[in-house]
Amino acid sequence: MRIDKLLANMGYGTRKEVKTLLKGGNVRINGNPEKSAKTHVNPEEDQVTVMGEEVEYKKYIYLMMNKPGDLISATEDANDMTVIDILQPEDQVFDPFPVGRLDKDTEGLLLITNDGQLNHRLTSPNKGVGKTYFAEIDGKVVEDDVKEFASGVTLDDGYKTKPGELIILKSDDVSEIELTISEGKFHQVKRMFEAVGKSVTYLKRIKVGTLELDEDLELGEYRELTDDEIGYLR
Ligand code: URA
Repeated sequence: MRIDKLLANMGYGTRKEVKTLLKGGNVRINGNPEKSAKTHVNPEEDQVTVMGEEVEYKKYIYLMMNKPGDLISATEDANDMTVIDILQPEDQVFDPFPVGRLDKDTEGLLLITNDGQLNHRLTSPNKGVGKTYFAEIDGKVVEDDVKEFASGVTLDDGYKTKPGELIILKSDDVSEIELTISEGKFHQVKRMFEAVGKSVTYLKRIKVGTLELDEDLELGEYRELTDDEIGYLR
């Protein structure tokens, strides 16, 4: 990796600013002063210092966002703003992507990373990582629905879902529920409720595996995961 890219990615400024830093003789590679922005380094083996301080190389980024209901979970979109568009430039340099998809109008816990292995682990249906949603439902959700969800619901395309754990928080003309599923079929939660004659009017993901949404995050805010939280996901 070029030294200017490494330093820019690690937060030492724009490529232009980093170039000035190099020209000023502030950067050393394995103890030797380096002035050229074009020089390549192996960030995992070479020791790079800026003004005597060692540059800590970070390969992966792990973010938790409280996704608002007006962003697309994709890296780019021709018409709409994406969850990546609202990241700070210093986070965008890692080329992160959302882990799985939430519908545009779904809020809540969205992980964003550049770690392909973690993405695979969390989204692969074989791994069965649970995703928990809070939803408001137009219609009275009853114990029969809990039983149906527990044995799998047949969706509009004939697919029978794996068991889902449905917890009724409020059963009324407008109900409130929590549902944990281990798959991620297109519009799955909405279609599961349609299959039992009800409709989702509000959907928010609150948990992935054992990782819970940080309720201190306002809609559209995000933060890095702690080492412990990254551990829960592995
Ligand atoms: N199920 C849905 O219907 N929508 C989502 O965004 C996530 C799960």
